[in-house]
Amino acid sequence: MTAQHQTVEALLRQNHEWAAERVRHDAEYFSRLAAIQTPKFLWIGCSDSRVPANQITGTEPGEIFVHRNVANLVVHTDLNVLSVLEFAIGQLKVEHIIVCGHYGCGGVAAAMTRQSYGGVLNKWLRNIKDVYRLHEPALLACAEGEARARLLVELTVREQVLNLAKTATLQRSWRADHRPTLHGWVYGLEDGLIKPLLTMEPGHDLHEIYQYENL
Ligand SMILES: [Zn+2]
Repeated sequence: MTAQHQTVEALLRQNHEWAAERVRHDAEYFSRLAAIQTPKFLWIGCSDSRVPANQITGTEPGEIFVHRNVANLVVHTDLNVLSVLEFAIGQLKVEHIIVCGHYGCGGVAAAMTRQSYGGVLNKWLRNIKDVYRLHEPALLACAEGEARARLLVELTVREQVLNLAKTATLQRSWRADHRPTLHGWVYGLEDGLIKPLLTMEPGHDLHEIYQYENL
């Protein structure tokens, strides 16, 4: 049965089967997981159903703290991502933050058009249009179509990693605890492989206008 034909009842039945299967392999599986949550990684990924953080990294529940939104954006006025960031850094004390985009991202493709999506979606996608404007020469030097869309996916990931580094939350943690390391990745829907784009170690040199002095 393909995912498109699943019913809500089927999801619940499969949940029971999955839970039973876990316990059959490891009787302590849920009691152990329920007792502790100490993930070392925060994942900021796209809401796209084809990019599930745990499956594509071969990790189990409890190993990655996950935040997902349309086109994996880090927006400085988004209370959701900022709350996740504060909790992950301050309470979970994660050592790595991964921003993972993906080729074939519908959000990025939509932002490259001049179509209005109304409501709040235009405002959200405008963040990607800003990335486009910032890197327009490089994008226009790239062949129109698939190649240019792939480049915008990569540039968007790079800008979101930079957006993390611009926050006082992150800079304070870099200064006090020398963590977390930031990573920008892109996932390929066509082959299931992740391509690392950039790594920012704690203390990475930002443009000085973004560096807070009184943390
Ligand atoms: Zn996407």
